[in-house]
Amino acid sequence: MTTPALPDLRGLTRLELAAALSALGEKPSHAEAVFLAVHRGKTAPGGALWNVPPRVCAALDKAFSLSPLPVPERRQVSKDGTKKLLFRFTGGTPAECVVLPAKDRLVACLSSQSGCSCGCTFCATGALGLKRSLTAVEILAQFEACLKEAGTLNSLVFMGMGEPFLNWENVKRAILILSDSRGRHFPQAKMTVSTVGVIPVIEELTASDLRVRLAVSVVAADEEQRARLAPMEKLYPLRRVLEAVRAYCAARKALVMFEYILFPGVNDRPADSALLARLVGDIPGRVNLIPYNPPGGPGGETPRVKEFQLELIRAGVRTYLRPEKGADIAAACGQLAAGA
Ligand code: SF4
Repeated sequence: MTTPALPDLRGLTRLELAAALSALGEKPSHAEAVFLAVHRGKTAPGGALWNVPPRVCAALDKAFSLSPLPVPERRQVSKDGTKKLLFRFTGGTPAECVVLPAKDRLVACLSSQSGCSCGCTFCATGALGLKRSLTAVEILAQFEACLKEAGTLNSLVFMGMGEPFLNWENVKRAILILSDSRGRHFPQAKMTVSTVGVIPVIEELTASDLRVRLAVSVVAADEEQRARLAPMEKLYPLRRVLEAVRAYCAARKALVMFEYILFPGVNDRPADSALLARLVGDIPGRVNLIPYNPPGGPGGETPRVKEFQLELIRAGVRTYLRPEKGADIAAACGQLAAGA
């Protein structure tokens, strides 16, 4: 019989840590010092935590592990400066994250799952199927590796491999740990979580205290076409997703970002821009237009992309044309396949 591994202390939010200390018969007030020591690297060999009584360290040591964070196995650098990092987590589970240089800032794009169960037909991650959801610690490891690459990070997006709202407990835990003032203190307002439209979690986010930003992958405005490209349409139809998004924006006085990948000849016709404008025109936010990058190689911007953008602008929709990044190392949107 194998002994189950102890849970990793790094994967606990400060609240969970306080509850764990109570359960171990220790004062929950030690949680602050423990959290600081764990997330700001104030640990000594043998498990000693800076400013934490040895008795508390010993109690934690019996219930939790504290291993070094996993580090990337491979690093690729694009000619445009985009960096892609490949991890092999426990059991050889692959996942990738990306550091994207934008105009005057650096963005980390993290994965929430290894592979994805959503099966979007245009997506290299979807073609892998779901291997497994990542733990909060595995998400933190990606953040730390991106930070090491970048030196400083201005924002982070959960737009890598996987559907973050299908691993929401761990993604939320990672968000709480990263934004904790005793941890990295990375502002929630600089984090964006992108979903293909998991309505129950959009509703949970609407009612929560989290300040993260919401992005929704539209894929196609036409229902049948969307169902062909993104099978999740059958479970969570776009029109119902948009109702949830309207409620989110109204309740939180927040903007939403719509992601729209332009597939030449498929969803980039004038009828598509007109339908898209009708569907999202009244929702506060903007549409990010992304030229399609096929999994096999670079695609990129066609003249139609600019025309589509103009059609939306004329219809009163705020748009942003996302510049192509990292296509030469398969790090662009929809290309992450963890070396498969
Ligand atoms: S586009 Fe997103 S939700 Fe769809 S298969 Fe790819 S990773 Fe999953």
